[in-house]
Amino acid sequence: MVRPARMKRASRAVFVDAATCGQGVFARRRFRAGETIAEVEGTVIADPDYWSAYCIDLDEGTVLEPAAPFRFLNHSCQPNGELVDYTGFCEQAGELRHVIRLRALEAIRPGEEITIDYAWSAESAIPCMCGADACRGWVVDPEELADVGELAHQQQN
Ligand SMILES: [Zn+2]
Repeated sequence: MVRPARMKRASRAVFVDAATCGQGVFARRRFRAGETIAEVEGTVIADPDYWSAYCIDLDEGTVLEPAAPFRFLNHSCQPNGELVDYTGFCEQAGELRHVIRLRALEAIRPGEEITIDYAWSAESAIPCMCGADACRGWVVDPEELADVGELAHQQQN
């Protein structure tokens, strides 16, 4: 369910514009480290095999298909944002709701692109072009980086 009040809040916090890689999400104002940028709207899908270019892994085999603007969040190996995912009681709906928030990992200036670490599994990894000093070379979970080389080697042979 899309609540107009929330959409308005997201549009006050960020805007979508051309980025190094397609479109990206940019800060409309200053954010402090640890500050919640906005709540991420989307559809929660309880199917561990579901995949799309934008979906975000949640716990226990569920994924979030984010709505705009947050479906345009780009990956960085040195992100300035992260998605925080928890279940909370929604007073309005009178039930437990899955809530995903985009939070600033560091101070973010107005006009700066907001990025997150996709941390994909080794099987889903694609070459990374984020340009960060600490770029891992692949869009992949740091803990699965060693497995990517192994998989790439197997595919070549
Ligand atoms: Zn990278």
